[in-house]
Amino acid sequence: MFATLSDRLTATFKNLRSKGRLSEADIDATVREIRRALLDADVAVSVVRAFTGKVRERALSEEVSGALNPAQQVVKIVNDELVAVLGGEQRPLLFAKTPPTVILLAGLQGAGKTTLAGKLARHLREQGHTPLLVAADLQRPNAVTQLQVVGERAGVPVFAPHPGAQESSEGGVVVAPAADPVAVAREGLATAQARQHDVLIVDTAGRLGVDAEMMQQAADIRDAVRPDEVLFVIDAMIGQDAVATAQAFADGVGFTGVVLSKLDGDARGGAALSVASVTGRPILFASTGEKLTDFEVFHPDRMASRILDMGDVLSLIEQAEKAFDARQAEEMADKLASGEGFTLEDFLVQMQGLRQMGSMKKMLTMMPGMGQMREAIENFDEREVDRIEAIIRSMTPAERRNPKIINGSRRSRIARGSGTTATDINQLLERFTAAQKMMKQMSRGGGVPGMPGLGN
Ligand code: GDP
Repeated sequence: MFATLSDRLTATFKNLRSKGRLSEADIDATVREIRRALLDADVAVSVVRAFTGKVRERALSEEVSGALNPAQQVVKIVNDELVAVLGGEQRPLLFAKTPPTVILLAGLQGAGKTTLAGKLARHLREQGHTPLLVAADLQRPNAVTQLQVVGERAGVPVFAPHPGAQESSEGGVVVAPAADPVAVAREGLATAQARQHDVLIVDTAGRLGVDAEMMQQAADIRDAVRPDEVLFVIDAMIGQDAVATAQAFADGVGFTGVVLSKLDGDARGGAALSVASVTGRPILFASTGEKLTDFEVFHPDRMASRILDMGDVLSLIEQAEKAFDARQAEEMADKLASGEGFTLEDFLVQMQGLRQMGSMKKMLTMMPGMGQMREAIENFDEREVDRIEAIIRSMTPAERRNPKIINGSRRSRIARGSGTTATDINQLLERFTAAQKMMKQMSRGGGVPGMPGLGN
């Protein structure tokens, strides 16, 4: 996601880096580049204008001319403004004082609502909630079945208007009276109350384009179930249409938050950068793939770091916590935070952890400085981890702690032991040294942690 934008911005900042003091012309050239990069990423024109205006104003101020490292200060400003445009603070889901909390999903057909319903249900279940899914999308053939499949995978019961549906082992599927989506939603709410589900997630029908009848139906369902949250699901790939679509839903149904879907598929991602500031509604979640686990709580600051290729160290640590045991995760977090004593053994633990995390490629894109290695990542082969593991395992503890002692004969021994070549070992050591350096930079960087090559 945001690959092109990220590359363009990183390149722009690289040009700045060679300059000590920045002239107005330097700043104007930079702002122009940023403007072009954002427009090419399909960010709405109004958003681009406001964004570059603020960046220029701040870049020309004392804030930059008085800074020790003006180029870095400009990056920090762009980072701040990106965070602001993405909505500022992370906004958690709001729960009703009296359960069930009702969440209504709205959006165009194909936006990813049904998929999201499953992801959100799974996420809430993991947090100890007891959600019930309601299939109020009766427009699209298969939508009900699709939700049932998704619900089953998520381990969450589905309330659906399917005659002949069976009670599932989770106490799940119930027969609703008629094929009227408003009635289904209302019955779903009654069922959630009766069965003491604390969250109700209502999937509604979308159309291919903005359509008055669809809006009316969504509004009728809204009035029937009085949701605590209306989440507008938008496909990050729809580009410049994002703003008009979002506005139509804001007027037609109204929504309290946004979910960006298909963030994985889009190299541009302009919708993401437009929708929060145009609608004034926060982005709560992001959908990043077709699997139920491809789902994230949306953090504006982390997303900005990713776009600026500063890596997403916090997400990395969080994912690491899931994969490692708590003690290991704590050690790793400390190491990442302090940047000290990062050894080949830690590198190996990280690599093993990464493999457990399943989505290797996704993880690598969160690591600082990895934007520059995007091509390598795209061609990444998980067998690489096996090779790395074999090499590190063939080293003595002393070699792992201090790879500098690896001379020619040690290298041959390690190569023999691991079934690799001296070149493989050199490559691994180079990568390790780069990772180590990155860790050190992160610990120093202050406001702009790990900005590759910019700090020192
Ligand atoms: P709905 O019509 O809004 O309910 O949309 P669906 O949930 O049926 O999604 C439409 C298509 O997009 C399906 O093929 C999904 O598998 C796919 N999809 C949904 N979310 C994502 C995502 O985050 N990434 C990718 N790559 N595909 C997605």
